[in-house]
Amino acid sequence: MLVVGLVSNIIFRDRVSSLTKEIERQRLLLNDYAMESALFLAIVDMMEIFGKDISVEETLERVTHSISNFFKNEIVLVQLFGQHFFQDIRGENIQLPQETFEEIATRPYPILINNLNSFPKYKFLEEKGISSFILAPLKGKKEEVSGVIGVFSRGSKTFSQRDLSLLRMISIPISLILENAELIEETRILSITDSLTHLYNRRHFQQYFEKILQRAREKNTPVSVAMCDIDNFKYYNDKNGHLAGDKVLKDIARLIHQSIKGSDIAARYGGEEFIIVFPETDKETAYKICDTIRKRIEEVNFQGEEFQPEGDLTISFGISQFPGDGQNCEELIRKADTALYEAKKQGRNRVVVA
Ligand code: GH3
Ligand code: MG
Ligand code: MG
Repeated sequence: MLVVGLVSNIIFRDRVSSLTKEIERQRLLLNDYAMESALFLAIVDMMEIFGKDISVEETLERVTHSISNFFKNEIVLVQLFGQHFFQDIRGENIQLPQETFEEIATRPYPILINNLNSFPKYKFLEEKGISSFILAPLKGKKEEVSGVIGVFSRGSKTFSQRDLSLLRMISIPISLILENAELIEETRILSITDSLTHLYNRRHFQQYFEKILQRAREKNTPVSVAMCDIDNFKYYNDKNGHLAGDKVLKDIARLIHQSIKGSDIAARYGGEEFIIVFPETDKETAYKICDTIRKRIEEVNFQGEEFQPEGDLTISFGISQFPGDGQNCEELIRKADTALYEAKKQGRNRVVVA
């Protein structure tokens, strides 16, 4: 979290002066005391969440809520482009088509439309009963457009230049907050992921496993644990080089990830060892899943595997189960490891259950 805090601080310092200048410029345009104080409250409200360890979705929700305080009867939409694609809509679901995003991205100015029927390209909004709207781009680093905020009216309300100024003004702290939330999320993902295989790293796995076991104790359900280790991998590296070895690790990690359910978790436990936890699963079922993975790896033609002692690159598994084989993470991992050792002893390329 120290890294996250540092990154937030740097971004904050870099952007806060331009934010202040822009707010002052827009404030002169508004020149309305009631609006000013409402705006001030919204900015304070949003700044409350700045740099907090909350998800992008939750940040979007909070931001949308703040905008809704100004435009109480209208539909508010906040959407990010690029890697994250979230929208939070209050009132009614409005889908902005790709063309609208492209329009905003290529012409990054606010849009105010009160006479929708004169604009055939916004006909889709008219069909949803919208009569008028305002849109403002969200600008990220280097001024590129990172998303859009929009307010849509279904009633007789027409938007004024002042409404548009307000939306523009509020879009500045929103851009900053959302960009920061995305950065915090990305940093968090990096901190829990193994950089080579993109599976969870061992540290995060330990924490996650502990939580799964706690839930299993409360609900009285089984949990299976599988340790797996590539067979004769040192040999493979020696024959084919470390880079080819890295590729095998990535391919096997992807194959494992594709073979398990969303509630199961897989992690890189050590150099060429992986661990999989199957909540609410007994070891007979875990055996079947692991044996399928084993067979799939046996079938893959890895580059240079013909030099392996058995002419094939394979993997071995050892499985244990909560509560029968152990009461805590350490015991279960130790039992799975012993079963894995047994699989190696019996000749590799097999699954052994504790
Ligand atoms: P066994 O069948 O008994 O598991 O034999 P093994 O050769 O796989 O086991 P050993 O523990 O002797 O060797 C593990 C090898 O895994 C040694 C190391 O070079 C390789 N390895 C560990 N981490 C990495 C990595 O990140 N990349 C590559 N390319 N190789 C790795
Ligand atoms: Mg090993
Ligand atoms: Mg090995």
